[in-house]
Amino acid sequence: MRVLITGAAGFLGSHLCEKLINEGHFVIGMDNFITGSPDNLEHLAGNPNFTFIRHDVSNFIFVPGKVQAVMHFASPASPNPASPYGYTNLPIQTMKAGALGTHNTLGVARAHNARYLLASTSEIYGDPLEHPQKETYWGHVDPIGVRSVYDEAKRFAEALTMAYHGYHGLNTSIVRIFNTYGPRMRLDDGRVVPNFIQQAIRGEPLTVYGDGQQTRSFCFVSDLVDGIYRLLMSDEHNPVNIGNPNEMNMIEFAQTINRIVGNSSGITSQPALRLGDDPQRRRPDITRAKELLQWEPKVSLEQGIALTVPYFRQKMGLE
Ligand code: NAD
Ligand code: UDP
Repeated sequence: MRVLITGAAGFLGSHLCEKLINEGHFVIGMDNFITGSPDNLEHLAGNPNFTFIRHDVSNFIFVPGKVQAVMHFASPASPNPASPYGYTNLPIQTMKAGALGTHNTLGVARAHNARYLLASTSEIYGDPLEHPQKETYWGHVDPIGVRSVYDEAKRFAEALTMAYHGYHGLNTSIVRIFNTYGPRMRLDDGRVVPNFIQQAIRGEPLTVYGDGQQTRSFCFVSDLVDGIYRLLMSDEHNPVNIGNPNEMNMIEFAQTINRIVGNSSGITSQPALRLGDDPQRRRPDITRAKELLQWEPKVSLEQGIALTVPYFRQKMGLE
């Protein structure tokens, strides 16, 4: 297949480009570098199965030649307002990538009668009242809350994707991605994994926001792209959660990182950066992914963090 991947210069997009090329496909990467970096695609430069178009997906998209699949991953993704790359500091761009970008990429898929895959998120469940989160849960989202520019853009994107499926008969799919980590995360986007790993490497206490009782479930990137690839190759149209159900609170997570990295400086409490909007519990129910895609994560947190630390050491100039 010739596959268009938007957000290709980002963390997940760059791993997906690699996965698709390794599976024998031809990839057209697209990105405007608003939160991503050309460094993430450096190793693909000169690869005959890869080409790149610098473009903002909020504007009309032209792809030369035929495409058989479109994967829409372009969007700021970090909630942290302390980082210039956090989506609360890029509110209009985030809404445009989720709304106009989804419309434009669906348009490309329709013009080519291509398979379409939307990168959605566990954030569409908001601060969930149902736990763990199944795909049937409608969510608990404040439409004008701090995270709403991201959450509502993704909810709109899901609705538009289903409309193209229902109205135009487009072959669409939706992946709801839960917290994923690994090499090529941006060091300064303020998400918890880059923050904790860098603090642990520097021998500093890890900054736990709020009371640290809020939970997340972290998936290593190779597991995630495997699940997404299976979804792309399937004929499923309804949303599918992909993530690791191994749930822990942020104090436990910080202690785990300190143990794996060998940091004895402990943790330090910081005021919650986003009062009232930090989802308190998050864990995917992955029954659908198991049944439909025969997928489940394989990489343990210990293995995944150990595979991620060298990347951060290198980017920090320590190797
Ligand atoms: P990222 O910031 O590393 O990558 C996003 C990429 O999209 C960047 O390269 C950025 O430059 C690009 N981009 C943003 N707006 C664009 C635009 N208008 N035009 C062209 N390119 C644009 O983030 P990520 O973690 O790789 O996330 C990728 C996708 O996966 C996002 O859609 C995000 O919502 C989704 N997602 C990620 C996670 C996660 O844990 N990493 C969880 C849920 C959902
Ligand atoms: N967090 C933290 N310390 C940090 C960064 C984040 O305790 O230095 C917490 C944050 O409050 C949230 C969790 O870690 O509860 C995950 O945050 P992240 O920004 O990675 O993504 P989210 O899952 O909130 O979208």
